[in-house]
Amino acid sequence: MTSSICGSQVMGRSFNDKDTQSWWNIVQYIDISLININIPLFQAMSYENLRVSSPKIVDRQFVKPLLCGPGPCDYWPAVVEALSRQIITPNCDEFYNVLDDIRAGLQYVFQTQSKLVLAMSGAGHAGMESVISNLVAPGETLLIAARGVWDQRAEIIAKRLGIKTEVTKTPMNSTFTLDQLEPELKRLRPAALFITHGDSSTGTVQKMQGLGELCHKHGALLLVDTVVSLIGVPFLMDEWGVDGVFSSTQKAFSGPAGIAPVAFSSRAEKKINNRTHEPPFYFDVKLLANQWNCYGDTRQYHHTMSPPMLWALRACLQSICNETLPVSWARHAASTAHFHKRLQEHNFEFFVPKPEDRLSTVTTVKLPPGVDHLEFTGYLREKHNILVLEGRGPTVGKALRVGIMGVNARTAVADILADAMADTLRAIHPKK
Ligand SMILES: *Cc1c(COP(=O)(O)O)cnc(C)c1O
Repeated sequence: MTSSICGSQVMGRSFNDKDTQSWWNIVQYIDISLININIPLFQAMSYENLRVSSPKIVDRQFVKPLLCGPGPCDYWPAVVEALSRQIITPNCDEFYNVLDDIRAGLQYVFQTQSKLVLAMSGAGHAGMESVISNLVAPGETLLIAARGVWDQRAEIIAKRLGIKTEVTKTPMNSTFTLDQLEPELKRLRPAALFITHGDSSTGTVQKMQGLGELCHKHGALLLVDTVVSLIGVPFLMDEWGVDGVFSSTQKAFSGPAGIAPVAFSSRAEKKINNRTHEPPFYFDVKLLANQWNCYGDTRQYHHTMSPPMLWALRACLQSICNETLPVSWARHAASTAHFHKRLQEHNFEFFVPKPEDRLSTVTTVKLPPGVDHLEFTGYLREKHNILVLEGRGPTVGKALRVGIMGVNARTAVADILADAMADTLRAIHPKK
């Protein structure tokens, strides 16, 4: 494999950002002088032919709130720096080295030794669509264990792909037991079971131990959404027998949305290699594995990946690997335990009754009867510059969704947030 050159060489000297700037100034000057001499070409493309005039796009200033919703989360400092780096061609050694770093980091955060680990260009939904479309063929059955909005998304995506869907439900403020799922796996013999590990619409965390084994016993693959749980809550892909898993960078990863980590087990790999259906081209992991060099130095172009997104993901992984997963899990658990204690001191109640079902990245909080949820979140944003979100799906009008995750998983943030929430309640609900 010959190595290509990332930094351009112009006339034997190396090229830098200052050159780009002065080159741009010259281009602008040339354009204006050409227009001024009114050559016929410009007369032909006169302003009269433009049906849409140029809008005035001015900079907008805004004050960024502390992000304590169910996502997105604030960035790691290294991510801010990574996003401001200059662009390079995604077809050179430097770029492919970044892909290698990312794959190694993702194997660590998913805790898998699988080679088929990469990131999809797109938000968490891209991960969801790729895991489902690569592992379940049209006409096959996907069993969906539903307790929030993300399982509904999985159902919509699967249906559009021509997959038969079956849904089994549990009360929205609880999680599934193996005993609940086994009869359904037995009865339906699905190609796969879809389940959400951490659910940000209900604030629950699903226990995963034994689930992989149970699925495999009944001939099903296990597909898991870890968008809002990975990094914040223990997740052990190989140990738990998970076959297809996806996440997103905008939650506990503390990066920007736009690049979705995915991983496939060897069982999943076998299915992908023997499949007879074609998943959507953009989500085809068989092709993407060749771009990501999952099985050696293949470097096959599939689509132009976004270098800033990859640098951002690499910076997230660097920060997470430096901290290590056990420390990150403990930090999330400690800051959320502190937050919950402070909420109870202020007489807030939890939407999820069983403490062991509560997700440590997103807490669903009940407000006293009569308190308007949007008024509450509006006041918190206006007066305290903190963003939390109202309920979604099963929690609409029932609970707020409050996130303490990623870089914000600290007891200092928990204190600021709990105090601001207490102040907000006093202000808009004076009787309390
Ligand atoms: C936020 C979220 C998603 C969606 O992720 P996007 O990056 O917005 O596509 C999916 N699943 C869960 C559990 C989430 O919390």
